[in-house]
Amino acid sequence: VSLSDVSAPASALSLRGIQHTFAANKVVKGIDLDIAPGEVVCLLGPSGCGKTTLLRIAAGLEVVQEGSVSLDGLSIAAPGKRHVPPEKRNVGLAFQDSALFPHLSVLENVTFGLKNLPSSQRRERALELLAQLGMADYAESYPHMLSGGQQQRVALARALAPTPKLMLLDEPFSSLDARLRDRIRDDTLHVLKKLGSATLLVTHDPEEAMFMADRIALMRDGEIVQTGTPRELYCAPVDPFVVTFFGEVNELSGVVKCGFVATPVGPVDASWLPEGSNVQVMIRPEALRIKERDLPVESHSHSHVVMAKLLGRSSLIHLCAHGEDGQEAHLHARVPGVFLPQEGQPIDIDLDHSQVFIFPR
Ligand code: ATP
Repeated sequence: VSLSDVSAPASALSLRGIQHTFAANKVVKGIDLDIAPGEVVCLLGPSGCGKTTLLRIAAGLEVVQEGSVSLDGLSIAAPGKRHVPPEKRNVGLAFQDSALFPHLSVLENVTFGLKNLPSSQRRERALELLAQLGMADYAESYPHMLSGGQQQRVALARALAPTPKLMLLDEPFSSLDARLRDRIRDDTLHVLKKLGSATLLVTHDPEEAMFMADRIALMRDGEIVQTGTPRELYCAPVDPFVVTFFGEVNELSGVVKCGFVATPVGPVDASWLPEGSNVQVMIRPEALRIKERDLPVESHSHSHVVMAKLLGRSSLIHLCAHGEDGQEAHLHARVPGVFLPQEGQPIDIDLDHSQVFIFPR
């Protein structure tokens, strides 16, 4: 045993070389993923990319066809060898459509998983979790008396109550309306961090992933495209898919000349790419900083506002930008707060280069 083996705590969950096929349809194509104790990892990706299948494999709800699953350094599932069933994995599960036991009250549903605790403590523990998720007043209600969102919160409380070392959550906030969702996310994250449960959370919502995750694993078509902190994925995306997954983006084409790509909003550094390469330039709407100008449209400032819309917390400006060499582009800019320049208003544009990304075509 080397020193590094001793000092590094085993991963709470370790997936190695996971592949999965449904009737000749390969939906998971070789995934490695580790979750450290206490870490919240979000599995993010578009519908159908294999997130739920991977989570079900980790939970033991799907048999491992290829690869292996370990919990706390112990192998618990590998093809043809071992398959520890879900209920023996000390894992908390909550799914989008988690069914509660219909004949048990909310309180009984949550105490159900607490068989290891003395009965005097079960009630206390369940009520504590229900209170943290805003459901204390419903302890004596039955599932059919609750809304979908309330049932989802009870399912979360039930999964969290036994303080599992690993929580597996599949779209656990999907039935909540937007306002309630923010609060329950916040409360859930608080509970997870307090319990120190390692968590794998499936979502297709980038904002939810950024809020909940210590690390995000972004999937596309059965593979992980990029793993990193929310900041790493947002500010250092490895390919165009990662950029577009986090929101609308302006896309332009260009060619590298003297280490730069000329765009209608100014040159962008591309010195790491070969001279003459064709590139895709991706400019986030918030990268375009607009300054109004006191000049008539006929002056040499060609860039102008086409349309401005207030969206609430920000304003969306549709603009037409003209570069020095006659290039023209229609772009969307996003400006915080209320900013509604007139149609035709001449403008200057400053580029925040940290939100501009260049990829070879
Ligand atoms: P969503 O966000 O829509 O839930 P997902 O990323 O979780 O999607 P999965 O549910 O893992 O995706 O599904 C991945 C692919 O596997 C899909 O094409 C789906 O149709 C297919 N699939 C999932 N479960 C089964 C099954 N039991 N039998 C056959 N195909 C399945």
